[in-house]
Amino acid sequence: TNPLIQIKNLKKFYNVSGKVIKAVDNVSLDIYEGETIGLVGESGCGKSTIGKTIIRLHEATEGKVLFSGEDIYSLKGNALNKLKKDMQIIFQDPYSSLNPRMKVEDIIGEPIDLQTKIKGKARRERIEELLRIVGLKPDHISRFPHEFSGGQRQRIGIARALALNPKFIVCDEPISALDVSIQAQVVNLLKELQDEFDLTYLFIAHDLSMVKYISDRILVMYLGNMAELADSESLYREPLHPYTQALLSSVPIPNPMKRRKRIILEGEVPSPINPPSGCVFRTRCRHAMKKCELEAPQWQEVKAGHFTACHLYTT
Ligand code: SF4
Ligand code: MG
Repeated sequence: TNPLIQIKNLKKFYNVSGKVIKAVDNVSLDIYEGETIGLVGESGCGKSTIGKTIIRLHEATEGKVLFSGEDIYSLKGNALNKLKKDMQIIFQDPYSSLNPRMKVEDIIGEPIDLQTKIKGKARRERIEELLRIVGLKPDHISRFPHEFSGGQRQRIGIARALALNPKFIVCDEPISALDVSIQAQVVNLLKELQDEFDLTYLFIAHDLSMVKYISDRILVMYLGNMAELADSESLYREPLHPYTQALLSSVPIPNPMKRRKRIILEGEVPSPINPPSGCVFRTRCRHAMKKCELEAPQWQEVKAGHFTACHLYTT
């Protein structure tokens, strides 16, 4: 099968008071139809920026994004409108991402109003159907966001993302703001919807605790750079990059016999204005060597389908 999305050498830099912030520095990734890519890293690593850039909410500084083989930055007119229907986003915070003065009907109806000619009874029926699809009561259509719990609000955000029958959804930390008890429900809902509507997801998370259950493959990012990519099983069984190893060691595991030794990451993520030379992770890496300061590690396939950028695996 062909990739639905091809990200090629994507860079996104910002200019902030004369300084360049490299939010995303050379990311390449193919996303296949029907798959979920987990995108993991601490805040500030460029995850959301990637998510927003590949659906054209931001322009790329360099590089390309192809959707069904077409360069998304060159699309105009009808082709661009079609693309905007096909690619949607679910935001992290179900409290701030829903307008408190809008009724559920108009929150979910907004993309329908902007992008389609559906009106009146058909519009209302579609919104009621969307509420049912995400597990909410259709007769709550006239309520306001504050009348719902956090989990329910996230369901409203999901209904809104589904309104135009998209092919691809960026889920930008959709469960991070929710109670742990609600997180699994929302992840399960997303999985069910994926099967039902043949969706492809980019699922963004700041740690590795829930992504395993939804992701086919996982990309770990650090400071705008790709650290490791593998199918979920391999990544959890045999993390290669020292950063992935540290992230995994802090995931709580029910069986204490299987618990990994906790690796504490010292210090903060360095500023993307002035990233470390060589390997950007070296200031926090317990394996850092002289070479890591001098040379950036190359992205390479260490085992079939399992990639990393780290000098421990170069010969
Ligand atoms: Fe650590 Fe060096 Fe590997 Fe970077 S390249 S992760 S500093 S061992
Ligand atoms: Mg973010």
